[in-house]
Amino acid sequence: MTLTDRPAAAVSNPLEPDRLVARLRATFDSGATRPLAWRRQQLEAMQRLLVERESELLDALHQDLGKPAIEGWMTELRHVANEISDMLRHLEGWVKPERVGVRTVLRPARATVVSEPVGVVLVIAPWNYPVHLLLLPMAYALAAGNAVVGKPSEMSSATSAALARWVAAYLDRDAVCIVEGDAPVVTALLAQRWDYIFYTGNGRVGRIVMKAAAEHLTPVTLELGGKSPVIVANGANLDVAAKRIAWGKFVNAGQTCVAPDYVLVDRQVESRFVDALVRAVRHFYGSDPQSSPDYARVINERHWDRLHGLLADASPSQVVLGGQGDRASRYLAPTILRDATWDDPVMSEEIFGPILPVLAVDGVGAAIATINAHDKPLALYVFAEDQAVIDRVVAETSSGGVGANVTLLQLAVADLPFGGVGESGMGAYHGKFGFDTFSHRKAVLQRTTRMDPSVTYPPYTNLKQRLLRKVF
Ligand code: NAD
Repeated sequence: MTLTDRPAAAVSNPLEPDRLVARLRATFDSGATRPLAWRRQQLEAMQRLLVERESELLDALHQDLGKPAIEGWMTELRHVANEISDMLRHLEGWVKPERVGVRTVLRPARATVVSEPVGVVLVIAPWNYPVHLLLLPMAYALAAGNAVVGKPSEMSSATSAALARWVAAYLDRDAVCIVEGDAPVVTALLAQRWDYIFYTGNGRVGRIVMKAAAEHLTPVTLELGGKSPVIVANGANLDVAAKRIAWGKFVNAGQTCVAPDYVLVDRQVESRFVDALVRAVRHFYGSDPQSSPDYARVINERHWDRLHGLLADASPSQVVLGGQGDRASRYLAPTILRDATWDDPVMSEEIFGPILPVLAVDGVGAAIATINAHDKPLALYVFAEDQAVIDRVVAETSSGGVGANVTLLQLAVADLPFGGVGESGMGAYHGKFGFDTFSHRKAVLQRTTRMDPSVTYPPYTNLKQRLLRKVF
């Protein structure tokens, strides 16, 4: 099958949404998903799926996104499998009630925080990392002992079909289900009562999800996007910065939520940095990236047109690399724009494609002021050799996360929370944060009945009042 010859978005509803949720709720209510052994079985089954169905999944990712196999393996299959290994290692510790201290007046007593599964969970995923962004939240929901419905994106239709097929084959069908389909299918799902909704995608749909969730007071995590900036300071290691920024930008053809969206470079090193960036891209993808097996494609014609449109107003002197494309095969060259301004179309929205505008600024203070004048980004990157510059950027800006002299790889540290702030989202997952997302932390206080001092009971005599004022 060629890149353009894809099956139409499939809609396979095994059951009507209300019957589906009722079935999963019955499973959850039966207690079947709570034992540690069941959770482990599901996580191990998902790992087996990722290993045994590797070639089918990588083929599907290639059909959808022209995703190079090693990128698909590294950033999707292996990444999820690695985090599941961490989950399996830590699960016993995570589920253990956590003992907390009690004040003297309440003793003897035992206070614990007990993590209980929230119930029936809906995970809605986008198309850019369609395996990772569906299966990883689902895995955390299962680790926490829930029943879960996953809704892959209809735009990555080959991967959606593969996931529907293999999840049904490997996981417990009474508790785990994939529902394929587009917006009307999501609308029907959102009309149900869920115990948690985990949505990854754009802020417009994020608002629709949150409104629907409010009907049932269902808590949500919204993993959204936005324009993630990069600061390149005077004194940064420009060659390494250029390589790391180019890699973070052009992997998956720029369709990564934490991809560097634009660069704010110190004016004094702008030319040297842009030269290094061009060298890095040529080194990665050669002089003809269209023939490179290591370069992905834009998801569909609509997004290709959008990206092409963002370039329409760029002057030839701005385009220092790339600019060419081929709509039929959804190829858009890795493109670098210099002398970009905030009036340019590329700066008006999240680019989410292989176009990197570079804007010169007068120092780190100006870069920080620019970032703070815009929405809080999902990721913020700073390249500097001076620790004081890095510390200043961390202290004076707000973002979902920060990468210093690195791009994207903050995601690979399972113990770091991954999530946005403000317009880039709410809530976070990965590691214990993922387990906690899908758990209710229940407060439990237990006291002995062997002693029952009457000091807190009425009548509040003067003596009792004096005592209470001393010990309470
Ligand atoms: P998308 O179009 O695939 O949408 C995501 C999901 O929303 C899909 O499952 C889709 O079926 C559903 N959907 C679409 N329209 C809907 C509607 N009207 N009502 C209900 N549901 C609807 O993906 P997208 O939103 O284009 O994804 C790209 C965005 O996601 C970018 O902004 C990117 O930065 C962000 N993103 C964020 C993360 C993160 O982890 N924070 C990861 C990847 C992508």
